[in-house]
Amino acid sequence: MSWKDHLREAVFGLELYRPFEYRPGLVRLDANECSFPLEQEDRELMAGALSEVLVHRYPEVSGRPLREALAVRWRVSPDQIILGNGSDEIISILYTAFGAGRAGKPAKTLFPTPTFGTFEAAALARGMVPVKVPLDDRFQLDEAAIAEAMRREEPALALFATPNNPTGNRFDSAVLGRLAERFGGVFVADEAYADFSGRSELARVKEGASFCVMKSLSKIGFAALRLGALVGPPDLIAQLDKVRLPYNVNAVSIALARALLANPARLEARIARVTAAREDLERRLRDVSGLAVYPSDANFVLVRTPVDGRGVYERMLARGVLVRNLSRPGPLENCLRITAGTPEENEQCLAALRAAVQ
Ligand SMILES: *Cc1c(COP(=O)(O)O)cnc(C)c1O
Repeated sequence: MSWKDHLREAVFGLELYRPFEYRPGLVRLDANECSFPLEQEDRELMAGALSEVLVHRYPEVSGRPLREALAVRWRVSPDQIILGNGSDEIISILYTAFGAGRAGKPAKTLFPTPTFGTFEAAALARGMVPVKVPLDDRFQLDEAAIAEAMRREEPALALFATPNNPTGNRFDSAVLGRLAERFGGVFVADEAYADFSGRSELARVKEGASFCVMKSLSKIGFAALRLGALVGPPDLIAQLDKVRLPYNVNAVSIALARALLANPARLEARIARVTAAREDLERRLRDVSGLAVYPSDANFVLVRTPVDGRGVYERMLARGVLVRNLSRPGPLENCLRITAGTPEENEQCLAALRAAVQ
């Protein structure tokens, strides 16, 4: 016997998540980060907060000081919030709590496709069965098909990224509301990009319902802190809290995020800058001949190149501009996802793209 005889067989078939290996000078528009670094004032605030972190002690076990600050921002109570090491860990906590199934039946998780890859990758890692329902040709929800899949498959969870990654559009709020009302599992609206859309489903979170909103600080400027959250009914949050590993969010991230959230005006200004950069990028992409540009409510834009998406991606990379190549047979054939950059980066991106599609 070796450990290989014990490892779950599914693990052998999993793929490692491999981000691009960046080189200096590259224009990085591949990961939907905030392209604007933090301002000097924020750096000083962080330095002050960092010097007071009690590194020799464990942090508060559930990140309560940060939950309190986020509760103010989202107008909910701290007992409606569970924190994760990025919202990736929130997905992991949900899948851990629900993933083993009940009464010998494997647990299922439903999501529309194409969407955020972690929904499926994390399910496969836990032996959960993904139930994938294709979006329509405008990348909107197919309400009838989702309702039917919910009835037929009885998934424990349903995840909807709104705005959706990689398509950029948000989903119709009324459709989400109707689907959630009839659903017998935990309904999650993943709002990693909602700050750029000016819309949120947070008002649907209430006691006695299963509607949850997943949040992330990654796309609004704090990707390196790895902070995500789930906002949900207190009884569900209390159960999930038992599955969460103690001290999952570290003291440095908690302290820095609290310092940064203490000045919401600067945060809102950054969000407005990113939104303006995306609008500018989107408008100028429409002038590139032959390119199909999908409307975006996020901090990135999905485009479809007239020919050979992979070739366009490689020629852009050769000019020093990295975007995300999504091209594969199916609904994303010849599609690239481009994160909104600073004005200079958007300029470089458009120049590289124009040269690459010629
Ligand atoms: C980027 C992204 C996240 C955020 O993940 P973190 O772990 O919080 O960095 C969550 N959902 C979607 C759809 C995303 O694109």
